[in-house]
Amino acid sequence: MLVKQIIKSYQEGQRLKIEDALVLIEKGDFLEVARLARLEARKRHGNIVTFVIDRNINYTNICNVGCKFCAFYRRQEDKTAYVLSIPEILTKVEEAVDLGATQIMLQGGLNDNLDFTYYLDMIRSIKNKYDITVHSFSPPEIYHMAEITSLSITGVLKKLKEAGLDSLPGGGAEILVDRVRKYISPRKISASQWLGVMEAAHNLGLKSTATMMIGSMETWIERLEHLDKLRVLQDKTHGFRAFISWTYQPGNTELGGKKISSYEYLKFLAVSRLFLDNFDHVQGSWVTQGPVIGQLTLAFGGNDLGSIMLEENVVKAAGVNFQMKVQQMVDLIKSAGCKPAQRDTQYNILRFFE
Ligand code: SF4
Repeated sequence: MLVKQIIKSYQEGQRLKIEDALVLIEKGDFLEVARLARLEARKRHGNIVTFVIDRNINYTNICNVGCKFCAFYRRQEDKTAYVLSIPEILTKVEEAVDLGATQIMLQGGLNDNLDFTYYLDMIRSIKNKYDITVHSFSPPEIYHMAEITSLSITGVLKKLKEAGLDSLPGGGAEILVDRVRKYISPRKISASQWLGVMEAAHNLGLKSTATMMIGSMETWIERLEHLDKLRVLQDKTHGFRAFISWTYQPGNTELGGKKISSYEYLKFLAVSRLFLDNFDHVQGSWVTQGPVIGQLTLAFGGNDLGSIMLEENVVKAAGVNFQMKVQQMVDLIKSAGCKPAQRDTQYNILRFFE
């Protein structure tokens, strides 16, 4: 189909197929695609752009997987390898609560020396002491816990939920195509295993986000296959709250290479908003793109700018260190002509900023 026909059928309510999205990417006008994506975001959320205040706590950087794109992980014997104790984690949570955080995201490497009780104790201790959402453990971590306990994926998730886990972040998805995964992260779970963990979580009432890292070595078709797999699972479970994409950061990684352009990222973002018609929220990435492009994502279909991260270590390890305070976030959103609002993990609005 021609670009015009694809846009017409999209406006008439037809779902974009992979081949349609590819035509929009290859032949569509950059600003026309952006306009459509912006309209879609406006239709769903009006002028409101949200953010959350949270802290990422990386409980260990020791990891037995060794993904080629990861600058964060360390081997057991490395001088900078660490595991946080529960009291150290609680201190970080307390600092976050004092600064107004509503969400804690615990994520770490797959460390063979930690047993399952460490994870359960971590969640129970936080929940016993603080009224805060624990949005934690991505599918590779859940899979790792199943391996060390011989429990099923559902068994692990049930125990984590009983301990107080509220929802799951979508990390570890990168590109949900095994050709790419086999090259950039050969020891990590497969695409279908990642989707399987998410399906099991959704079936237990644990909602999640879905993520994607673009720009390592995947083709456009593979990017669209990733979106398609998310859309198919979302049709089945309705368990994804948001889609969050960011760009590969090659600094300090084994994989190396170059960053993709902001143009390519923004075009992808707009197409993802159009393609994922069953996702309510699409997040723009200021953490990898910086505040200026982060703000521009609001013109390309984004309706959320993610988190004011009180702590972030993974992207920082790749040499990229953008930080933002609440007032800066508010100003950024306002100066894009939108209405800033703080949200919680469930995307409920907590407060507006005039
Ligand atoms: S991306 Fe995650 S699983 Fe891969 S090496 Fe880094 S910490 Fe380990």
